[in-house]
Amino acid sequence: MAIPETPQEQIQHLSKKLQQSIQSRKQLEDHYLRDSQRYSEFVNELCLALSGVDTELDGLLHKLRGHLQQNAAAAVLEPIMQGLSDVISQHTIRLQTQLKQTNESIRHALTSIKPHDNDSRSKLKRIANEFEQPTMTVSHYMPLINQLLALAYQQPSTQTETEVTQYQAQLLDLLSEVEFSGNAADTLQQVKVALQKPQTSTTLLAITLKVMRLVFSNINEERRSAQTFLQQLNASLESVQNVLGQTINRSADFADQRLHLNQKLKNGVSEISACVTEACELHDLKESVGLQLQTLSETLNQHLKLHEEERLSFSSNTQAMEQRLRETEAQVAHYKQELAKQKFRSLQDNLTKLPNRSAFEERLNLEFQRWIKGDTELTIAIIDVDHFKNVNDNFGHIAGDKTLQVIAGTLSKALKDSGFVCRYGGEEFAIIFCSNEQDAYQHIESTRDKVANIPFKFKSEDIRITISSGIAKFKYNEDTPTAVFERADKALYDAKNSGRNRVMTAK
Ligand code: GH3
Ligand code: MG
Ligand code: MG
Repeated sequence: MAIPETPQEQIQHLSKKLQQSIQSRKQLEDHYLRDSQRYSEFVNELCLALSGVDTELDGLLHKLRGHLQQNAAAAVLEPIMQGLSDVISQHTIRLQTQLKQTNESIRHALTSIKPHDNDSRSKLKRIANEFEQPTMTVSHYMPLINQLLALAYQQPSTQTETEVTQYQAQLLDLLSEVEFSGNAADTLQQVKVALQKPQTSTTLLAITLKVMRLVFSNINEERRSAQTFLQQLNASLESVQNVLGQTINRSADFADQRLHLNQKLKNGVSEISACVTEACELHDLKESVGLQLQTLSETLNQHLKLHEEERLSFSSNTQAMEQRLRETEAQVAHYKQELAKQKFRSLQDNLTKLPNRSAFEERLNLEFQRWIKGDTELTIAIIDVDHFKNVNDNFGHIAGDKTLQVIAGTLSKALKDSGFVCRYGGEEFAIIFCSNEQDAYQHIESTRDKVANIPFKFKSEDIRITISSGIAKFKYNEDTPTAVFERADKALYDAKNSGRNRVMTAK
């Protein structure tokens, strides 16, 4: 380009340059405006995308978007951006820690999911592998967690399973306290066998229903038998009443007849007397008195006959009544016997044949009254079989039942002369000693040793089973059976915690 020579030319040249620079500045401003608008839109979108991650972040982003829409100056935006940057870096640290913890929890949870088919097993394995990957982002975890939840939902609830097992064991325990006869006894046995195998909630419900039917039909049977007894008793009493009624009627009848005959005799005697008074001739007197005497003799015969009839009727009625009363007596005695048997059964444990918990409570209350009066010392011991669940788990419930019978037999033999031995429930026994703590301790300690030396053999395996015991005596004025039982239970707990196979006395 030629260099301007004249001032005119120079002005022209400068003006052109100014024009050019104004234009390029305008272009620059347009560019800048477009770019800043684009960035603002982008930041706006970013804000929208990030919303919902953190509440503090949400607040700052909201503020930033507001300022961006109003094209605020950089000086206004600056502190907000700084705040945002701080919150984001804090959030990132938090997120990383949370992701790490989530990863650990999920890995732990993975071990509790037990897939029930091959397909679920391989799915679980794949998911587990994914969690082993170093990638740790929320978007990586989200679908995996969903898949994991789906798998967990498929598996049967272990919670319900445990509850069913618990109910089953409780039902079995309850049934060990009842005894039926005849067909009901067979059904009860079947139910017990079924309860010793694993059941689902549905089958357990069916079994419970069966037990309830059994109990109700037994109650009805008892009611029917009581009704029959009362009906028989009623019939017997009615027939006694009839005989008594007949006797009374017959007696009234006999009394009437006797009155009539007495009147006849009186009349006869009066007539004889009149004859004697009126008679003038001995011959006439003889004749009329003879006739009267004949009538009198007939009347006296009737009297004797009536008397005999009365005696016979009375004796036969008395015999009938005696017979009825004897029958009634026999019925009452039979019913009393049945009731006594039932009471005994309700106090006896069916499996071990030892007195049960009700018997224990009844006896303890009795001994407690004696202790209050100061007649006797009183100590109780609770025995619990150690790790008994293992016997059931390893050798089955039936082996468990037999073990309980053997232990009960040993306890009864060893302690029956010194204490009252009961099966308190499950694998727990309770003993009442009307003696002091030291005496009870010696007996229980030697029994513990005896039990530990019983050579049990299950599935050709030699097993030793041990027991632990807690002992407590009635000693304080305000002591009650419940309070002393709790002390003994606490001592038993201490015996368990100190290694089992030991006897401990309450402090
Ligand atoms: P610990 O030493 O702590 O007493 O352990 P444990 O296993 O004996 O205790 P836990 O109370 O957990 O288990 C008692 C078990 O006894 C559970 C129950 O199934 C079983 N059981 C209770 N009554 C009977 C029964 O009549 N027959 C059988 N076979 N098992 C029973
Ligand atoms: Mg127990
Ligand atoms: Mg136990």
